[in-house]
Amino acid sequence: MKASMAMSVLMLWQKKATSLAPSGMEELTLMASTRRTLRMEAAKAWKTEWAASTHGSSLRRLWKEPSKAPMQLYQGLQRAATSVLIQMQTGKIALASYPGTFNAMESTECSCGRGRQDIRHILLHCTNQAGLRMRHLTQGSRRELDYRAYLTRPDLVPKAVHFMLETGLLGQFQTLPTTYRVTTTDWRQPAA
Ligand SMILES: [Zn+2]
Repeated sequence: MKASMAMSVLMLWQKKATSLAPSGMEELTLMASTRRTLRMEAAKAWKTEWAASTHGSSLRRLWKEPSKAPMQLYQGLQRAATSVLIQMQTGKIALASYPGTFNAMESTECSCGRGRQDIRHILLHCTNQAGLRMRHLTQGSRRELDYRAYLTRPDLVPKAVHFMLETGLLGQFQTLPTTYRVTTTDWRQPAA
C-alpha cells in the first residue's frame, strides 16, 4: 500500500528541509525558499487528494472544503507528530479498520470487543484505552467531544497525537510500510 500523495510530498519536504545545513545566510535563504516551495507543493497535493478522494472520505469529514487549516496545524508540530496526525486524519493508519481492508488483519474489530477499530473508536470509546484517554484527552472532564475536534483543533491536536503514540497501536502491524511506522523515540527528536 502506497503512502498517500500528500504524505509523500510532505515527507519529501521534511527530508529536503533537514538535509540542508544552515551554516550561513545563503543557506538559510535557500532553506527557507525550499521549505516554502515544498510547503506549497504539499498544500497543492493535499487539495488534489481532497478533491479526488472517493472512498477515503476521512478528510472530507474533518473539513467541508480544502482549507489552509491543516497546513497551519502541521507547521506547529514536530515532524513525527505531523506524520502521526496525517495518519489519524486520513485514516491511513495502523488500526485494524484500515489494514483490514487489504487483508493484513483477519478482522477490522478492536480487541476490546466493542466495535470497529478506527480512529473514532480509539479516541472516544475503546475500553482498552480508558486510562490513557483520561490522562491525555478528557483529563477528568465528563464532556464528550466530537472526535473531529481532536484532529482539527490546534489546542487538542498535540494531546491526540501524544495519546495515539502512547497507545502503542501504531506498532501493532509489522507488515506496514515503514512510512507508517512512528515510534515514541521519533516523537522525542527535535523538530527539523
Ligand atoms: Zn477497542
